[in-house]
Amino acid sequence: MNTLICNGTVVTAQNTTRADVLVEDGKIKDVRAGIPQDGAQVIDAEGMYVIPGGIDCHTHLDMPFGGTTSADDFETGTRAAAFGGTTSIVDFAIQARGTRMRDALDTWWRKAEGRACIDYGLHMIVTDLGTSGLEDMNDMVREGVASFKLFMAYPNVLMVDDATIFKALSQTAKNGALICMHAENGSVIDVIIARALAEGKTAPVYHALTRPPRAESEAVHRAIAMAEIAGAPVYIVHLSSEDALNEVREARDRGVPAFAETCPQYLLLSIEELERPNFEGAKYVFTPPLRPKQHLPKLWEGLKHDHLQVVSTDHCPFCFEDQKILGKDDFTKIPNGGPGIENRLQLIYHHGVNQGKLTLNRFVEITSTAPARIFGMYPQKGEIAPGSDADIVIWDPNALYTISSKTHHMRVDYSMFEGFEVKGNARTVMSRGEVIVDNGEWKGKAGRGNYLRREARGGAWK
Ligand SMILES: [Zn+2]
Repeated sequence: MNTLICNGTVVTAQNTTRADVLVEDGKIKDVRAGIPQDGAQVIDAEGMYVIPGGIDCHTHLDMPFGGTTSADDFETGTRAAAFGGTTSIVDFAIQARGTRMRDALDTWWRKAEGRACIDYGLHMIVTDLGTSGLEDMNDMVREGVASFKLFMAYPNVLMVDDATIFKALSQTAKNGALICMHAENGSVIDVIIARALAEGKTAPVYHALTRPPRAESEAVHRAIAMAEIAGAPVYIVHLSSEDALNEVREARDRGVPAFAETCPQYLLLSIEELERPNFEGAKYVFTPPLRPKQHLPKLWEGLKHDHLQVVSTDHCPFCFEDQKILGKDDFTKIPNGGPGIENRLQLIYHHGVNQGKLTLNRFVEITSTAPARIFGMYPQKGEIAPGSDADIVIWDPNALYTISSKTHHMRVDYSMFEGFEVKGNARTVMSRGEVIVDNGEWKGKAGRGNYLRREARGGAWK
């Protein structure tokens, strides 16, 4: 069965053109004006933008953290993603210390199997290189896990030392994978946290006050320096501050292959949220923390000028009522994370494109094409061109929508963006040629999402 999307305006990272899009067997067959209907099922996209499906390369579905598990699993999380126009995610498998990476990969495949509603890839979080870790990394690359995440924060839990980071970076210099870095100086932060607790400072806001921007920028600087020595690119996840941005920009200006993403929460929310009464500040406890307001316009500028390449969500939802509450008397026990997988395109479109901070093409690039390239999925994903998967969003630039936990599809009891009004939303969402969301109605099914085998030496290497 062929589908013809006609009368729309096709928007890619490069071009904006009036064209029809012909879809056949899950792939894009043709893109040009005046494609004959020839018995195809027709979708009228008059007045709409036809864009490549969003790619969220930083999500945590069904993830254990601090004695609990993130509230969305691969079914509820990927369905919510689809409602917001995201058609691929890259989630994180976590190697437990002292175990093989393959064990973690098997565990995360099981979590996704029968549940994922859209295509998904996996990064591997490395907590321990042990004796077989470097060989394990090559094994993962052969399985399409073309990126690894390392933590410079959370000592005794996830943090690895500089020697481990440098060994892993050096291995990617050979096998072409990409190291993603959680860049915060965890050792310094832990000392500051211990002081705060000793002074009886236990409220949510101290989560932010004990993780200063300089702890982030110091780690970004160190990560990039180690990557330079190793001769490998590096990708900084969830960059949150002007200080950290300056480090990335300085490196890129010197021609270093350093890349970074930020998230809607860092672009739109600030530290005041953590001071909300009745413990509601806990809804905004995630890492790195929200920053003072003056950082926000700097991050938007960074996106505009390609000092930042990607917007992801770091979606890691914990319910307020029965999960966030674990830290009622001690901010260090609040599960770290917030929900956002559903709202990324709406928020970046409205606050970026509508407010003149980003062009339409740049919006497509940072939400879809750049993550596809950097993480080895391009041009299968992130493009509207013959041969690419028909992951297509028909975007209504005039749709008015109010974000609320009452109507969202994420399995969490609050929204970080409650009451935010946006103009522009996904009307029809297609994954490999199949309409899975249409006018706010779910048409897909659990388990239809495929595992994405990603290629090493993706766009970060070119
Ligand atoms: Zn994360």
